[in-house]
Amino acid sequence: MSEGIRWPRSRPGGTLFRGGRWITMDAADRIVDGEMFVVDGRIEQFGPTVSAPEGTPVVDLAGKWMTPGFIQGHVHLGQTLFRGLGEDRRLLEWLTDVIWPLEAAHDDESAYWSAIVGGAEAMRAGTTALLDIGLVHGMNGLFRGLIDLGIRARTGKLLMDRGEGAPAALLSEPDPILAESHELARHWDGVDNGRIGYAVCPRFVFSCTPALWEGAVAQARGGNWPLHTHAFETREEQDAVRALEHRSELDTLQDVGALTVPLKVAHGVWVDDPTAERLGAAAAAIIHCPADLDRLRRHGIRVGIGCDGSPCNNFLDPLGEMRLAALLQKWRHGPDRFTARDALALATREGALAIDAEDRIGSLEVGKRADFVVFDLERVHTLCAEAVDPYTRIVFGADRTNIESVYIEGRAVVDQGRIPGFEDGEILARGREALRALLARAGRFGGPAPPVKMTP
Ligand SMILES: [Zn+2]
Repeated sequence: MSEGIRWPRSRPGGTLFRGGRWITMDAADRIVDGEMFVVDGRIEQFGPTVSAPEGTPVVDLAGKWMTPGFIQGHVHLGQTLFRGLGEDRRLLEWLTDVIWPLEAAHDDESAYWSAIVGGAEAMRAGTTALLDIGLVHGMNGLFRGLIDLGIRARTGKLLMDRGEGAPAALLSEPDPILAESHELARHWDGVDNGRIGYAVCPRFVFSCTPALWEGAVAQARGGNWPLHTHAFETREEQDAVRALEHRSELDTLQDVGALTVPLKVAHGVWVDDPTAERLGAAAAAIIHCPADLDRLRRHGIRVGIGCDGSPCNNFLDPLGEMRLAALLQKWRHGPDRFTARDALALATREGALAIDAEDRIGSLEVGKRADFVVFDLERVHTLCAEAVDPYTRIVFGADRTNIESVYIEGRAVVDQGRIPGFEDGEILARGREALRALLARAGRFGGPAPPVKMTP
């Protein structure tokens, strides 16, 4: 794990970003050919031309396309090192066979490198802000990794006090769990000039007793933190909750008070109209990974997008998720529904609403933070007619290889593909070392791959 912060956080004075086409995602959907003047991370002036003091450092973006930074409302950076180990399993088997035993073996060092490996990938794919659901162990390492990357993030200790098949090392009594969560929040919430924040993270109804839920809701309310959880993901999980609680998942959430605080639900795949109506009335947000967006929006639910974790999705790539979201809506409701602009909104202005950060991020306009992605569309695979809709060019045309640089508060956190403060060779070597040690502690998956079985 690193000692101290890896790279300078602030540049005195302002920066002028000159040229290029800016897709603002503001309320008027303006597209601006022009300049942006950023002071102390905030967009001070923005338009066809701006007036910056003489001597202001200039970043030349002529010929590039910019969008607001992408916001992921649900990720598990702590699972990045488990990529590929849980394929072809159903949810509860995936948790008990693979994820829980590996999460139980995390320490600060492995959590740190898991955050760096996952965060580097997510940032290179345009992510500037994320809501992570944390880990049971290794949270100090995870927070330090987020800070060293320079990303805007909220996360918190993953809360669990029950779960058939869960290793004892992941479970404890509600009081010590909540005390540790509170201590982590006290230490990390608001650090890095407010770019790092806390979230209270009960894993899901199946792995938290009502007593833990009630304590988590009280903690979220007391600290004004989001309550970040999983729900309505699979039918199997909902049946398991009903067998355990003798009530539906939604009734359980309501009875423990979860609908009275800012609730951020990952998945929401199996949400019917009555459930959507109650979630909408409670001002809950659902993070698509994936869901029926038409239904959720009809009931006023705020919707964002997230890549979840590497061992279930492999890629932490918001452009891939936007494309998937749009294609799924088109498959379900018809090809004339859910445009490229709708998909981009999920990862920008609507994603900001879903994590309650719309006052700072989600669109490019004066007063907001200068978090943005720089695309180079002058590539063979993105050649198209000038008349092509700009949103289509980004969402259906570009992929992460078109992303050149990524800025958070006017500072490059991805600079021509590089992550300042890290070399890829170091990330690979230290990430692999941390993974090897974790697998040895877990006593699983340490050997070579089994021989490939041929399908008869
Ligand atoms: Zn998840």
